[in-house]
Amino acid sequence: MRALILLFCALALAAEPVRVRLVTGGHNHDPEFYTPFVGDARMAVTVEPHPKAYQGGMKNVDVLVLYDMIKESDPKTREWLTKWVESGKGLVVLHHAICSFEDWEWWGDEVVGARYLNKPSRGLPPSTFFHDLDLDIQVVKKHPVTMGVDNFKIFDETYKGMWFAKDLDLLLTTKHEKGDGPIGWIGPSKRNRVVVLQGGHDKHAHLNPNWQRLVRNAILWTAQN
Ligand SMILES: [Zn+2]
Repeated sequence: MRALILLFCALALAAEPVRVRLVTGGHNHDPEFYTPFVGDARMAVTVEPHPKAYQGGMKNVDVLVLYDMIKESDPKTREWLTKWVESGKGLVVLHHAICSFEDWEWWGDEVVGARYLNKPSRGLPPSTFFHDLDLDIQVVKKHPVTMGVDNFKIFDETYKGMWFAKDLDLLLTTKHEKGDGPIGWIGPSKRNRVVVLQGGHDKHAHLNPNWQRLVRNAILWTAQN
């Protein structure tokens, strides 16, 4: 009987969708961006722009997905995101959200593991970007985030000349000359699970089934704390 009750509990837990807060703002995007989040019973997604997404608390959220681009961090946002990381809850950083908070070293160094440089910094010139490239993406690590994804092609944007943390836990790379190499990685945070996916500029990437699968996998994996 006890085993039966446990089984019911496990099934009930399994059926509970991951509560996702998708943060937009600071950069326009195609409506196709929302494709991976529609019709997947494993997740319940709400969308809010920065900074409204952080107001009123986030008690009922399991995973934060950032697709906003906010150049400078204000004290309230810093406090809020620090609490989020320290709470151990999941974080997924998509595309231009990598370029946020250039002024916040801890965020880039210890959470995201990369920094897009708008101005010369750390002995490096400013980073740059290239649109509309045919990219070959290599899956370099078997991991729950890359499950079901083989090497693939995608029409997308690259960033070039970014600063990266040492010993990045790489999941995806490209050898394209206009990219840096890393395309997907696990963030260095010791407090929570962080996945960073560099791709996802416009509808061409958003409608790519491999990109969609990576986003969904990242959400489900970071939800496990
Ligand atoms: Zn872009």
